[in-house]
Amino acid sequence: MSKFWSPIVSRLTPYTPGEQPKISKLVKLNTNENPYGPSPKAIAAMAQEIGDNLRLYPNPDAEPLKLAIAKRHGLSPSQVFVGNGSDEVLAHAFQALLKHGAPILFPDITYSFYPTYASLYEVEYRAVPLAEDFTIRVDDYLGQGEAIGGIIFPNPNAPTGCLLALDEVERLLAGNPDRVVIVDEAYIDFGGDSAIDLVTRHPNLLVVQTLSKSRSLAGLRVGFAVGHADLISALERVKNSFNSYPLDRIAIAGATAAMEDDAHFDRTRNAVIASRSKLADELASLGFEVLPSAANFVFARHPQHDAAGLAASLRGDGIIVRHFTSARINQFLRITVGTDEACGALTDSLRKHL
Ligand code: PMP
Repeated sequence: MSKFWSPIVSRLTPYTPGEQPKISKLVKLNTNENPYGPSPKAIAAMAQEIGDNLRLYPNPDAEPLKLAIAKRHGLSPSQVFVGNGSDEVLAHAFQALLKHGAPILFPDITYSFYPTYASLYEVEYRAVPLAEDFTIRVDDYLGQGEAIGGIIFPNPNAPTGCLLALDEVERLLAGNPDRVVIVDEAYIDFGGDSAIDLVTRHPNLLVVQTLSKSRSLAGLRVGFAVGHADLISALERVKNSFNSYPLDRIAIAGATAAMEDDAHFDRTRNAVIASRSKLADELASLGFEVLPSAANFVFARHPQHDAAGLAASLRGDGIIVRHFTSARINQFLRITVGTDEACGALTDSLRKHL
C-alpha cells in the first residue's frame, strides 16, 4: 500500500461488487438486477438526448428529474436529492455524518457498504444484531440513554429481504426525534410501503431509493433521497463540495422518463413479484428454508447442503447466485428473482444436485 496517502486508506475494507460475467449465456441471478428492460420511453428519451445535447453540460441540479420524483410523491423539488446510484447518495449521507462524535447504528447483518463508508469518513458505528428470525428489532434502536449519531437500515433489509412494517419504521422515528434516520429503500417497490409518506411528519427522516432495481436502470447509475428541505440542502452542500454535476445528460433524460412511466413500472414489478412467489414455493418444496422476501431476491438455506457447494454446482450449470457463510447468516444462498424461465433453470439445477 502506498505510504503517500492517508493511513486510513490502507485500513479500508472496500465493498466488492457482485460478479459481472463476460459470458452472456450465464443465468445471472447474483446482483439483484431486474430481468425486464427499462421503460421504452426512457430509452427513447436517452437516444434523443445523445442525438441533440451532449455538447452541453448537464443541468447542475438535475431539475427535470427532481421535479418528476417530487411530483410522484407530492413533495417539492427542494425535498429531493439525486446522485449516481443510491450508493453515491448514501456516500454523501455518510460524509454529512463525518466525525459526528456519536456512533451511528445499523443492523448486523445489512448492506456491506455501510461499514465501508463509515470507515472512510470516520463515522463511528455500532452494528446491532438482528433478531433470531433475521428481522430488525425496533426496540434495539430506541436509545436507552446511549448517545447515537444516527440510524441507517435498508427496508427491506439486504441480503435477507425481510421487511420492517411501516408502523414499526414510524415507531423507530418517533423514538429518535433528535437523530437522522436513513431508510435505504433500494428494494421497497417489490413488496413494502415506502416511508416517503412519513417525510412530511418527520424532519429527521431521509428515504433513499434507486432506479437500479424496480426501474431496471442499474447501468445508468441513478439514485435519490427525499427528506425535509433542510436535510436535503445539507446534502447539496456536501455534493457541491465534491462534484457540482451529479448526473450526466443521458441519466437525467432517461431517469426522468422512467419515473414518469408508471405503466411499465407496475407491469414489470408485478411480474417480478409473481415470479418470486413461485420461486419461493419451489425452493420450499425442495426442502429449503426460505425467508419471507419483500425484495427482488430470496434468501434461502438448505438444512443438508452447504451454500458454497450449492453455489458451485449451480455455477457448473451456468447459473450464478451469491452465497453467505458468515457466522450470523450461515449457509444462505441469495438468489435474484429472474424471469420464470431463469428461475426454472435454477430449480432444475438444484433438483439435480440435492
Ligand atoms: N442499498 C442496498 C441495500 C443495495 O442492496 C444496493 C445495491 N447493491 C444499493 C443500495 C445501491 O444500489 P445503486 O447504487 O445501484 O442505486
